[in-house]
Amino acid sequence: MNRLEYEARLLHKSYPKDDPYGSLSMPVYHTLAYEFATAAEMEDAFCGRTSEHTYSRVTNPTVQHLEERVKEITNAHGVTALNSGMAAISNTFLTLAWSGCNIVTSRHLFGNTYSFFVNTLNAFGVEVRFCDLTNPDEVAASIDGQTCALFVEVITNPQMEVADLMALSRVAHGKGVPLVADTTLIPFSHFAAADFGVDIEVVSSTKYISGGATSLGGLIIDYGRFNWSRSPRLQMLADDSPSAFHDKLRREIHRNLGAYMTPEVAYLQSLGLETLPVRYNRHASTCSALAEQLVSLSGVTGVNYSGLTDNPFFEVSKRQFGDYPGAMLTFNLASKEQCFRFLDRLRLIRRATNLFDNRSLILHPASTIYGSFTAEQRDMMDIKETTLRLSVGLESVDSLLADIRQALSDMP
Ligand SMILES: *Cc1c(COP(=O)(O)O)cnc(C)c1O
Repeated sequence: MNRLEYEARLLHKSYPKDDPYGSLSMPVYHTLAYEFATAAEMEDAFCGRTSEHTYSRVTNPTVQHLEERVKEITNAHGVTALNSGMAAISNTFLTLAWSGCNIVTSRHLFGNTYSFFVNTLNAFGVEVRFCDLTNPDEVAASIDGQTCALFVEVITNPQMEVADLMALSRVAHGKGVPLVADTTLIPFSHFAAADFGVDIEVVSSTKYISGGATSLGGLIIDYGRFNWSRSPRLQMLADDSPSAFHDKLRREIHRNLGAYMTPEVAYLQSLGLETLPVRYNRHASTCSALAEQLVSLSGVTGVNYSGLTDNPFFEVSKRQFGDYPGAMLTFNLASKEQCFRFLDRLRLIRRATNLFDNRSLILHPASTIYGSFTAEQRDMMDIKETTLRLSVGLESVDSLLADIRQALSDMP
């Protein structure tokens, strides 16, 4: 889609009912229940014969407006907004998985996703098969008739490995398995996941979309392209319909788990969505310029950003994400002690977790996100003591560089 065209469509998308006051933006419907004129209309709504709202755990007009706006940008078949990125991931897998199935994925996973797969789902008879996603043959060999999905993060956090989605979707589809991708690190406004064979996209909208760390949220974007008659769990619903996943999610799973987005959050994230293209361009172009500068700073022993031409993922990253592969990078110093000293000396960049706040944020993954993991688990996941993760905010390149330079100076 032409960028200008989608920006205008996004900003001017109207909501479906006339507002008595002519409100220009979608009102926040802070309501739980909805009243019906007759019992028959109520029956129709509850039995799904009309799309009227019944109860805000199931649907809410303000949340639905956000879902519709995301649908507009992505051309998806169905979008579901939830209360966090983890809710998007857990709802997706509770829709896809069954006792005795397996998930094929990488060892390089976001910490809670790893824990959800290995600790939570495992107790319900779901096996997790880790493999090297840069090796399609190994991925193919790991998939069998009990595989519910191939799951990838488009750029792994914090290892910065870029998934070759075209190659991986060929492998998955050849074996009759859907490709599920966590695209949190590259927003759908700048990356058309479905064009690379992704069937279901999960996003932590807490990050780029919330509009500067305003709120937690998650999205499940279903492209309706997978043939669900090939899924042992969903084939009963499939009957040639692309809706099996979306229907099961909306009619059963998300209602039962009760993690739907709240109207206040949908309002904040709808505002965030309106400025997403502008903010992303600034975050990502600053990150790219900073990565190029960091390489030559003394004390920095390595910079990991797939926009750098000597990065092993440069080509695949450019093909998928264009000029700017996101606004997060990692870099290495000589030791954990140096990392801590550097962090303590920063004056502008904030020591905090989260990604794509308006402020630049930095942390030492090994001692924080992975702090409660064993040394063996950290080794297996390639989490190094010498790595710092930087999420680049909306400050200028020069002010960020000045802060980094002063914090690096006089390093012992
Ligand atoms: C933050 C994050 C999540 C989890 O999102 P929450 O909104 O914090 O629940 C999942 N995946 C990735 C890649 C993330 O960065």
